[in-house]
Amino acid sequence: MRYSLASLLRQACSGHRGWEAAWRDASPKSAYEVLIVGGGGHGLAAAYYLAKVHGLTDVAVLEKDCIGLGNAGRNTTIIRSNYLLPANNPFYELSMKLWEGLEQELNYNAMVSQRGVLNLFHSDAQRDAFVRRGNAMRLHGVDAELLDARQVRRMLPILDFENARFPIQGGLLQRRGGTARHDAVVWGYARAASGLGVDIVQRCEVTGLLREGARITGVRTTRGDIRAAKVAVSVAGHSSRVAAMAGLRLPIESHVLQAFVSEAIKPVLPCVVTFGAGHFYVSQSDKGGLVFGGDLDGYNSYAQRGNLPTVEDVCSGGMALMPAIGRLRLLRSWGGIMDMSMDGSPIIDRAPLEGLYLNAGWCYGGFKATPAAGLCLAHLLAREESHELARAFRLDRFATGHLLDEKGQGPQPNLH
Ligand SMILES: Cc1cc2nc3c(=O)[nH]c(=O)nc-3n(C[C@H](O)[C@H](O)[C@H](O)COP(=O)(O)OP(=O)(O)OC[C@H]3O[C@@H](n4cnc5c(N)ncnc54)[C@H](O)[C@@H]3O)c2cc1C
Repeated sequence: MRYSLASLLRQACSGHRGWEAAWRDASPKSAYEVLIVGGGGHGLAAAYYLAKVHGLTDVAVLEKDCIGLGNAGRNTTIIRSNYLLPANNPFYELSMKLWEGLEQELNYNAMVSQRGVLNLFHSDAQRDAFVRRGNAMRLHGVDAELLDARQVRRMLPILDFENARFPIQGGLLQRRGGTARHDAVVWGYARAASGLGVDIVQRCEVTGLLREGARITGVRTTRGDIRAAKVAVSVAGHSSRVAAMAGLRLPIESHVLQAFVSEAIKPVLPCVVTFGAGHFYVSQSDKGGLVFGGDLDGYNSYAQRGNLPTVEDVCSGGMALMPAIGRLRLLRSWGGIMDMSMDGSPIIDRAPLEGLYLNAGWCYGGFKATPAAGLCLAHLLAREESHELARAFRLDRFATGHLLDEKGQGPQPNLH
């Protein structure tokens, strides 16, 4: 069923009783050509591109819960391609270009809003680092603008320019960055993949991997064994656990990251803003709530909730940036499990076992990568070779030393 103004009017005239389910809630078959473990944005996007680009439709996405209840539905929805490293920048720009055409491609309103992403700087050294990053972006054909304090103030009068502990000197702006509605992205990819013949199997937890020698031949699930020529693991914060089923130890740690939403207020933030003197990032949702986050909780965990000291830490970052929010009430907070890699960059690669493929290590930046990660994982699965823009996301870089440390934090996952 195509969504359009005409279909909306037709349904409105018939009491909205004719809408079809957006995707089939399939029962698993005994065998598939490709199995994707994990019904988050990445797994569903990969399934969609496998069907759409490579014509592979004997594909199932296995999700232990309902699709989109993992990090895909828990993130702060920021999309951007303002990266420094030559291996990262073109990949995230590919993703940005896919975002720009996504709603037309999927025939689904994913509320992609290119409202801009502004990274504030508060010192000369930080400005120099941002200038360097902005120049790297422009050399790759990505938009970047350096704003001075006056220009930032004109855009964001809510920020503290009078008595700030860390005075704002300016910001690096990517106007094409912004936000997208996270669960609509999941539903859009699910609907499009299902429409092309992919089976989306919910409440089907993978509990083991079937193995013949050094080859993975399928999965053991709570709904029975399913055989497959290829199994892709795309389970974000649970990557280490599923990889362990194959006896693999990944260079990944799982950490909690929290997100917060305030009560709704009048429009005060026209773009996404990140604080440069602490870890705090914020945007305003279309309903008016401030959506924000900060640091990881700092310890390994699989619990999808965080602790109060981190709430205090994140809110103090917000207060340092815009004291005017001090009387806002917090409506909700929640946590998600991050697959933090040793260098802060992802892995899209074959695993050391034949028939097993990995999409992992997205840290807390994987939402923006959803379209490109799906496209590149599908490419790897269909063609048995890495997509040209994902070649650097190899698993063996941790052994060979070809790390992609965008932040320069060293091999400490909770700092990336
Ligand atoms: C609070 C928070 C804020 C964030 N903010 C941003 C942001 O602003 N911008 C950004 O780019 N990124 C952000 N991220 C990161 C981003 O959400 C993730 O990197 C990305 O969503 C991961 O890919 P995914 O959507 O496929 O993961 P998920 O949605 O987590 O999908 C993985 C799925 O695998 C399933 N699964 C796990 N184990 C099994 C199993 N054994 N069998 C079957 N299924 C299984 C899970 O249930 C889950 O649904 C944030 C994350 C969090 C938690």
